[in-house]
This record gives sequence, structure tokens and C-alpha cells, in this order.
Amino acid sequence: MEKTILIRIGEIFLKGNNKSFFLALLKKNIIESLDGLDFKLITTNNRMYLEKYNDSDEAEILSRLQCVFGIHSISPAVKIATDIEQIAKVCCELFPKEGVFRVTVNRADKRIDKTSSQIAAFIGGVMLKNSNKLKVNLFNYDFDVEVDIREKGYSYIFYKRIPCAGGLPVGCSGNGMLLLSGGIDSPVAGYLMAKRGVKIYAVHYHSFPYTSEQAKEKVLSLARTISRYTGEIELYVVPFTDIQYAIKEHCPIQYMITLMRRFMMKIAEKLAKNTGCGAIITGESLGQVASQTMESINVTNSVVNMPVFRPLVGFDKQQIVEISKNIDTYETSILPYEDCCTVFLPKNPVIKPKISYALDFESRLDCDKLIADALEKTEIVRCHFK
Ligand code: ATP
Ligand code: MG
Repeated sequence: MEKTILIRIGEIFLKGNNKSFFLALLKKNIIESLDGLDFKLITTNNRMYLEKYNDSDEAEILSRLQCVFGIHSISPAVKIATDIEQIAKVCCELFPKEGVFRVTVNRADKRIDKTSSQIAAFIGGVMLKNSNKLKVNLFNYDFDVEVDIREKGYSYIFYKRIPCAGGLPVGCSGNGMLLLSGGIDSPVAGYLMAKRGVKIYAVHYHSFPYTSEQAKEKVLSLARTISRYTGEIELYVVPFTDIQYAIKEHCPIQYMITLMRRFMMKIAEKLAKNTGCGAIITGESLGQVASQTMESINVTNSVVNMPVFRPLVGFDKQQIVEISKNIDTYETSILPYEDCCTVFLPKNPVIKPKISYALDFESRLDCDKLIADALEKTEIVRCHFK
């Protein structure tokens, strides 16, 4: 008898020619997420099994696996030589001794002469005899004892299915450059795109000395928190103050945010190209603030030549807050440190900016030099969940 963790994979993605690519990537991501722990990972056609781990690490392993995209659910299980009486005995020993239950048998080994329902009835009967606090109900139960009889003479038994993060393995959809602020929305946007298989790189613009060291730390901490799901994030911290000074000095203040956003996008695109990212990701949600109207989005979008993913575009703030609480970024996001956008915030930002005006104002600036200088002073930080 041996302890095992059964890992179920999102089934839809197992079809077609991409199957082996998908499985290899998922395997790599699982191994990375369990860094520092002892285990052996076995891959079969549509499942994985984790074996040879230390009992004392089990809770940690289960919690880390729940954050690996591409895993549908997991079950801590016992692997045992196929012997129906022995299986029934182990169920009595290891599983709850009170409550309402049922037994479900999956018999892949057709050498066994009993049917699945006969085996289930037998095991259920032994469990009922063993404890008078147990009851069987096939439709309305507290737990389902599952017995998976494999072909090669052994079986897996378990009674818990722990739902996991779902989605696709990070990396299978390419790389994306996330504009990461210290706010609530952008970490959620990064999480959602990683869930669709995008490996996340991130860029943060900061306005030292107007924004503090703590404001930067907050962003690093957000990146570390989501890296639990996304894997390690390479974060580019770009100094933004000189660009803001230049805009403030030469352009109308109502266009401050619009022009800042255009700079942010241009720089993000350059970084994206350098890092092999095929898309930019932002936390924008339509109509949330003046810079997120359709017209504003059009004016900022028009400076880049690659897809910009805005996974939150149709989300209400409340929905975004819920996700941020679930992924543990909320408490950090609401810490009251200034963002570079709030520092130079105009009283009446333009709500329907025009591309022609933006171009006109930008012609007063040496945009290429401002961008090159900012990139040269950019700091790269590797953010990893520990
Ligand atoms: P968030 O909660 O993500 O900060 P927000 O509601 O505050 O979003 P804005 O400040 O308008 O909205 O920012 C819109 C998007 O622009 C953010 O989701 C983020 O992707 C990007 N962004 C804003 N500020 C920065 C910054 N300092 N560095 C990098 N990206 C930023
Ligand atoms: Mg913000």
C-alpha cells in the first residue's frame, strides 16, 4: 500500500496532436511548482500520479498543485494491489467512519469477474458492517468512495476530489507582457491570461521620488503572489518621472493621462518584442475611469502593433475584487501607496481624446529619446513565490 496523489487533467485539451506538447509542459510546470520537495511524477495517457513524497509534505503539495493551471482536480489516494477484500478493509481503516456515502467503482481490469456495481455493493457492505454511523445514499451523499481498478494489477482508492485552478498549462499559449500597476485590476488580468496558458512577463512604471520605494515593493509583492499561479515573473521596472515631466511641461494637462498611457504602451511593446511576447495585457475595464472609455482605449491602442489583451474589459469592479480576494492579491492591492498615474492626475482628464491631438502634442516631445532613456534605466527583477 502506497500513498499517491492522483492528478486529473482538463480533458478537452487532451485531444488532437497537441497532446504530448501539452502533457510535457504540464509536467514541467508541476515539477517547477514542487521545487524543493521530494516526489516522483508518473505520466500516463490522461492522468498523472505523484508518488514517493514525504507524508509531512502532503498538505503543501496539495496546496501547490491547486495553483497549477491545466490541472482539473486532484485526489489524495492509496495505491494497493487489486484484492477486493483488502480494498474494502483499507476503506474501513482510512475513510470517514460516519456520514452518508456511496461507492463508485471503475473497473479497467476486465479480468476481474465481478461487475463494477457488484464490487461497489460488496465494499459498501463491508463499510456499513464496520461502522453503524455510516449510511448509504447513491444520490445524496457526503462523500463518494472511489475505487479505480487499473489494468496492471493495482487499484487506486480515494474519497476526495479537490478542485484545482483549471485552464491551460502556462506557456502553451505563448508569452504576454502585463502592464502591472499596484492596483486591484492588473494582477487579476495577469492571473486570467496565465490561466489561458500565457507565460507572464510584467512591466511597472514608477515615478520616483513621487512614488515611494514602498509603492514599488507593493508591485513586487503582487508579482510574487500571482507567480504562485503564473510561475516566475520577470518584472521590468521602468522609471517614468522624466516622461511625466516632459508631458507636463509641453502638453495640455487634460491629455496627461492619455499621453502617459501611450508612452506606457510604446515601452511595453518594445519590452514585449525583446522578450518574445506576442501580446500586451492590461487590467482595463470598459468605462471604469476616464482613461478607459472606448475613445481613450482607441487612442492608447493605436500606438502599438500587436494584440492587446484586456481580460477584464467586461467585468464589474465587484467581480474583479472577488477574484483578487481568491488569489490573495486584494489585501496588498489596497495598501495606500501612490501609483505613477495618480501623482500627475489632472482635475479634468479628457474623456474622448483624439488621436490627431495626441500626435500633435507628442510632436512637441523627443519621444524616442525619452523612451530610450527610460529603457536604459530599467531594472529587471525576478519575482518568485516562496
Ligand atoms: P489597476 O487596478 O490595475 O491599477 P486601475 O483601475 O487603477 O487599474 P488605471 O490606473 O486606469 O486603472 O490603469 C489601467 C491599466 O493600466 C492597469 O490595469 C494597468 O494594466 C496599467 N497601468 C496603470 N498604471 C500602471 C503602472 N504604474 N505601471 C504599469 N501599468 C500600469
Ligand atoms: Mg491603477
